[in-house]
Amino acid sequence: MLPDIEKLLELQIADKEIRQLKEEITALPKRVAAIEAKLAGTKAQLEKARAAAKADEANKKKFEAAIQDLQGKISKYRDQSLDVKTNDQYKALLHEIQFAEQEIRINEDRILEVMMNVEVREKDVKAAEAELKAETAEIEKEKAEARRVTAEDEKKLTEWNTKRDNLRQGISEDLLRHYERVMKFRGSGLAEVRDHKCMGCQVMLRPQTYNEVRNAQTVVVCDSCQRILYFDPTKEVGPEPVPEAAHHRKRQRPKSDAPQAWFYRPDYGEEGEVLIVYTNDGGHATRRIYEMHSGRQIGDILTREGNYRLAFPEDLTDSAVRLNGHWEEQEMDEWGAEMPTNALDALHSDLRAAQREHGKPHKEHVASAEHSAAG
Ligand SMILES: [Zn+2]
Repeated sequence: MLPDIEKLLELQIADKEIRQLKEEITALPKRVAAIEAKLAGTKAQLEKARAAAKADEANKKKFEAAIQDLQGKISKYRDQSLDVKTNDQYKALLHEIQFAEQEIRINEDRILEVMMNVEVREKDVKAAEAELKAETAEIEKEKAEARRVTAEDEKKLTEWNTKRDNLRQGISEDLLRHYERVMKFRGSGLAEVRDHKCMGCQVMLRPQTYNEVRNAQTVVVCDSCQRILYFDPTKEVGPEPVPEAAHHRKRQRPKSDAPQAWFYRPDYGEEGEVLIVYTNDGGHATRRIYEMHSGRQIGDILTREGNYRLAFPEDLTDSAVRLNGHWEEQEMDEWGAEMPTNALDALHSDLRAAQREHGKPHKEHVASAEHSAAG
């Protein structure tokens, strides 16, 4: 992996931590504000309950005063009744007294009603007071917690910022600028390549791009999402996914003008089945031969003048099957005496796909049989 990309990966971790910490720091006051709003609501409710209790008290006094007033009137009428001259006058006073007594009963009923209300009001006030007390305690706890978490986050943030600044110093400016632009819009600036796919946007890479990422000689960005691509060999899962795809998709045709060409030969002298790879390089062609099943290299690397078709005409018999595959010269040098399993598996499955397409006609046979049965 390129050193710049290794640093960028660390930088991306730092950037993500910083973003998360900042989000947490801004979220905490919002949570406290929400509890404070609830607290204000409870306070308002308590005030309302208290005001209602006060109004009841005032009403009660008003009704009591009215009763006193009416009782005064009644005793006045009684005094007057002692002095009346006519029967009519007496009747009129009696009527006034009855009316006042009726009014007193109405006011007494009102007072009773208020008294019943007071019980309910008292309960409301007590409940609101209890709630307020609990919420006040809770908000103090929340505030203390928010202060504690914020202080912790701020400390972590400072540490990550220092780490981030240090990491940035070691990375080339152009690369850093590209990373930051993509990071800003997509939330990440790097993407792993797995199974020929950019894991950032899930788009398949062109074979050449894929090889460039695997070779890790230059910085490669994803054509579709612009993330900087990297390949982690420890995460590669099993052999290349060619065999599965080959069943469903048409096999990719090897390009005749490719600078590298792989062939399968079932009848290569004493060796029998072999895989041969030719690489054209500036007027020369090199040849490597591998044993078909073990991947063990046979003989030495041979270099001849001209491109491989002209340089090694004796190899390219009718039995040779052209295969898909490309590995950099340097990588093949690193293989040493044996081809790695994933490369061998990829070539084997491509050979099976090629044989299905050309050599073994049974597939077409089945298809036409089905066709005639259906017709
Ligand atoms: Zn992508």
